[in-house]
Amino acid sequence: MTAKRVYHFEETLEGDRNMLLGGKGANLAEMTRSGLPVPPGFTVTTDACRAFYAGGKTLPNGLFEEVRAAMEKLETKLGRRFGDPRHPLLVSVRSGSAVSMPGMMDTILNLGLNDKTVAGLAEQTQNPRFAYDCYRRLIQMFGNVVYGIDGTEFERLLHRLKQNRGFREDRDVTAEAWMQLIGQYKDVILQKACKPFPQDVYDQLREAVVAVFRSWNSPRAIVYRNVHRIPDEWGTAVNVQSMVFGNLGDDSGTGVVFTRNPSTGENVLYGEYLTNAQGEDVVAGVRTPLSIAEMERRLPGIYAQLARTARQLEAHYRDMQDIEFTVERGRLYILQTRSGKRTAQAAVRIAVELARDGVIPKEEAIRRIEVSHLEQLLHRAVDPSATVDVLAQGLPASPGAASGHVVFDADTAAEWARAGKKVILVRPETTPEDIHGVIAAEGVLTARGGMTSHAAVVARGMGKPCVCGCEDIRIDLEQRRFTAGGRAVAEGDIISIDGATGRVMAGTVPLREPQITDELAQLLSWADDIRGLQVLANADNPADAKKAREFGAEGIGLCRTEHMFMSADRVPVVQAMILAESEEERRLALDRLLPMQEEDFAGIFRAMDGLPVIIRLLDPPLHEFLPNLEELIKRHLTLTLSGQGDTGECRETDRLLRKVRQLYEANPMMGLRGCRLGVVHPEIYEMQARAIFLAAVRCAKEGIRVLPRVMIPLVGHAAELKMMRELVDRVAADVFAAEGLTVSYRVGTMIEVPRAAITADQIARHADFFSYGTNDLTQMTLGYSRDDAEGKFLNVYAERKLLPSNPFQTIDTDGVGALIRWAVEKSGVVNPNLKHGVCGEHGGDKESIFFCQSAGLDYVSCSPYRVPLARIAAAQAKLAQARAQAEPAAVG
Ligand code: ADP
Ligand code: MG
Ligand code: MG
Repeated sequence: MTAKRVYHFEETLEGDRNMLLGGKGANLAEMTRSGLPVPPGFTVTTDACRAFYAGGKTLPNGLFEEVRAAMEKLETKLGRRFGDPRHPLLVSVRSGSAVSMPGMMDTILNLGLNDKTVAGLAEQTQNPRFAYDCYRRLIQMFGNVVYGIDGTEFERLLHRLKQNRGFREDRDVTAEAWMQLIGQYKDVILQKACKPFPQDVYDQLREAVVAVFRSWNSPRAIVYRNVHRIPDEWGTAVNVQSMVFGNLGDDSGTGVVFTRNPSTGENVLYGEYLTNAQGEDVVAGVRTPLSIAEMERRLPGIYAQLARTARQLEAHYRDMQDIEFTVERGRLYILQTRSGKRTAQAAVRIAVELARDGVIPKEEAIRRIEVSHLEQLLHRAVDPSATVDVLAQGLPASPGAASGHVVFDADTAAEWARAGKKVILVRPETTPEDIHGVIAAEGVLTARGGMTSHAAVVARGMGKPCVCGCEDIRIDLEQRRFTAGGRAVAEGDIISIDGATGRVMAGTVPLREPQITDELAQLLSWADDIRGLQVLANADNPADAKKAREFGAEGIGLCRTEHMFMSADRVPVVQAMILAESEEERRLALDRLLPMQEEDFAGIFRAMDGLPVIIRLLDPPLHEFLPNLEELIKRHLTLTLSGQGDTGECRETDRLLRKVRQLYEANPMMGLRGCRLGVVHPEIYEMQARAIFLAAVRCAKEGIRVLPRVMIPLVGHAAELKMMRELVDRVAADVFAAEGLTVSYRVGTMIEVPRAAITADQIARHADFFSYGTNDLTQMTLGYSRDDAEGKFLNVYAERKLLPSNPFQTIDTDGVGALIRWAVEKSGVVNPNLKHGVCGEHGGDKESIFFCQSAGLDYVSCSPYRVPLARIAAAQAKLAQARAQAEPAAVG
């Protein structure tokens, strides 16, 4: 015998109600049992839907008999019969899966009407206009949902009828005119579906149930499930519910109410009501509905009952509810309740207020926050009430909004910014060489490249808005202008970009500053009480360090010294250092860099008074600081061809060219970089270490608590770290002796080469901390170069579902994660005091943070703007871990 597959709303049931009955069905049942006025009905389980698909899209054996029996029970309950020409029972047939998917699947109302019962309904209600209106609605919905006929086929006829007969609104249409339209609607069905509209009410019901099952696999439902990661195999339930009518006259109507304001979170009823209307009329916008406040004035009794019900439902579900209701001749019916969708701002406010009122524990408030959603709150945004002139649309690559003068190259960006202008850097795409332009710009717009392209990653790291892959714009670098939709924008013109939506707009637009509201601050402090992971920030300058601190960072987990080399005033000195033909010459350039670096570090130490600062010694290959090869060749060629072959400029270009060729590497990612630079050119690391310790001593003398940590990049072998540590210790001892003050410091390493992770026990002997550089570790573990992978094949991998997610966004736990776990375990045996953390993009990613918690790391480090998100995600991770550990015990 198969399990029961049909449940009346009032019936109890064992097992996961939400899963079996779907959210809508489970809530209808729950509301019914708590005595709310819900029209009676029953639910066909998601099991039946799964059986429907398993059986090749046919109703499983015996299912319809069960449905028929349920209908008969419903008839008894209501004292009317399905298909009875005098007292017809009418029902709605509604979909509903375990997770609500608003509007993704279909509903049919007024089912049970046919040529005979419609007359009975007219007679019984003494309202033929109403009865025929219901009938034409049924035919239209049925045609649309069951036979897939485009709704406009029907709308067009209705429109023509109204025009011909001079009816302004639907409610002006007379019974006789509806009858005429019904005739035309039936013809549409006959033509398009090649069969007549079914007059047998059980045929109607059977086809409707099948259509709801099928709508589980409609294209829009599939898209929605993909975005929200809802499993395809869950299936939908079907709710068959007796109809109530909001279109019976002016004492009837239908509406939607939220128990709190879904955009601000304010604790007031929020919603709309439409008199004399049915079903989706409110959403469809056929007439302007009344606000709930207006409803209170006009229908005080109903309003009071609705408000009471709303409070009751919210208290029961302990969350803000989105409630559908209908008033039939002055009586209120509740048709649906679900947790309401809300903005990030509202989500925070509601969670905090519910916790403060003791409705939910604060752990639950933390758990409910959708971390990725919070990003909306932490960046400047375009004022939503402003009217804007949209020029083009690209990918929303880094949230935030900015306005500025258009510039087409990084040098101009830097130059104009120095002159005090705000600029937007517009490039076909960006490369690492554009970094100084990105730093100088308010925001970045590129015509090519995806959400994880270089420009996007860099911009996100700096909390700058970025719109990528904006193929609507045509950039003409020669003419220094771009065109979009037939309009031209020249260098110097002002545009605005919105990295949260991908919009590119003409002129300036009003912006709203990001703010940590009182509620968010409260939530963050609860998160801090709960979490185990420390949250540090990646910051390369005092301004970012200060921002990070404001956002609650507990130190700096990654200070990239190369960014300090990129600023316009440093580049010539850095280049002189690289181009040096002798060690002597190189030391001269380094001597000039030393005070600059010292100043950088002192600024950061001051901003992070009392907190640790992890400084990574130079990491990228040196050629990144030189002009690119193609450009140099072009410049050289132009000079020689125009007869300037023996000018100083040409000789200089020649020298650069030779050096760039000499530094050229087939695979720079695996070339002379990281600690290999420190081994080959120890004077560079010596200078950096000296700058760090000089700054530390200076700040300590000023009374600042400095906690410097020196980090060696790209170590793959214990011997490398041993050598570099000796170098750092030697410089430190030197500086402390000369300055007459000792500052305590630590030395650690990045773990970003697989060999380093595998030999973690050997490396751990020379380190005080490990920072897992998950970007490089991912590149080298998977053998993907990020820039190539994201442009060329990762999207295909994502589409074909070969990978669960982009490994550069979310840690690949089985591969990269396994290496990290191994390293944590091995190193712990040798050096139990070793601290472990993750830095890079993954440090601000929720799922990666969950991984860090489970792998037993001590901290994560992410960009300043992500620090608040990471604090919440870290608390969620701790809660999830506690729950997972408690669960097996509970199950036994
Ligand atoms: P969705 O999940 O897209 O909201 P619903 O199944 O809730 O779809 O139904 C669509 C509309 O029909 C809603 O406005 C709902 O309130 C209305 N409706 C559904 N069932 C009934 C019923 N039995 N009586 C009156 N109106 C109904
Ligand atoms: Mg709908
Ligand atoms: Mg609904």
